[in-house]
Amino acid sequence: MRLVLGMCILVLNDVIEGFRMIDELKKMILESKKIVVLTGAGFSSDSGIPTYRGTGGLWSKYDPSIYADYNNFLRDSTYYWNFFKDERYPMMIKAKPNTGHFALVKLHKQGNLYKLITQNIDGLHQVAGIPDVIELHGTTRSFRCMSCDNRFSMGEVYKKIKHEFPPKCPCNGNLRPDTIMFGEPLPQPALEEAMFAARHCNLFLVLGSSLVVNPAAQLPIIAKENNAKLAIVNIDPTPLDKLADLVLNKKITGVLKQLIL
Ligand code: ZN
Repeated sequence: MRLVLGMCILVLNDVIEGFRMIDELKKMILESKKIVVLTGAGFSSDSGIPTYRGTGGLWSKYDPSIYADYNNFLRDSTYYWNFFKDERYPMMIKAKPNTGHFALVKLHKQGNLYKLITQNIDGLHQVAGIPDVIELHGTTRSFRCMSCDNRFSMGEVYKKIKHEFPPKCPCNGNLRPDTIMFGEPLPQPALEEAMFAARHCNLFLVLGSSLVVNPAAQLPIIAKENNAKLAIVNIDPTPLDKLADLVLNKKITGVLKQLIL
């Protein structure tokens, strides 16, 4: 009985501490007129997009050195196109923005969101209604010809694949996704814009990123070096938690619902 009571008190303390932290984060957001938000895979998991790493992650099923490597794509792109046809496209047409995406739209409309940076390639922030997003790893919603740079939508490429595999441009050039694959540099303009935003914000808010992939993981450090506050909301601890002014190890959608909606 005493043990059960002790456990109840611990759980209750945890809940009260959670509310206190959310209140504190709310205050930080209200006081900051220039907020930079960085979203990662944890942000889209409630939209039915699996994370990459860890148990049940996409890469436990599809080896990234085969399916997401640029040199391998150049050698034999059929792996990628099969993955796109069987896994990526069906997942993407089902995926819808979640409560977290709409909470950020509200922040954007309030005028407090200075820049939104994402490591996600799903384009769901734009679908939710934020047009200007810095996509560090590109987007899976568009494709381009490697010879003439002609652009194609995800739906157009999916239709093409049914009668032309691998799909080609009318100029006979090979197509590629607008995502950044392993072995490729990040898009320099996006990276520079993200670094500029990190230097000029007064709150850097990490939402659902495990902060293990560079250079995204450098951005919160740049923000702190330029006197911004740093808050991290992620289900698991991150390597930058020690640097943060506030850390909440919780699911994003629940936190954002209480914070902004
Ligand atoms: Zn072409």
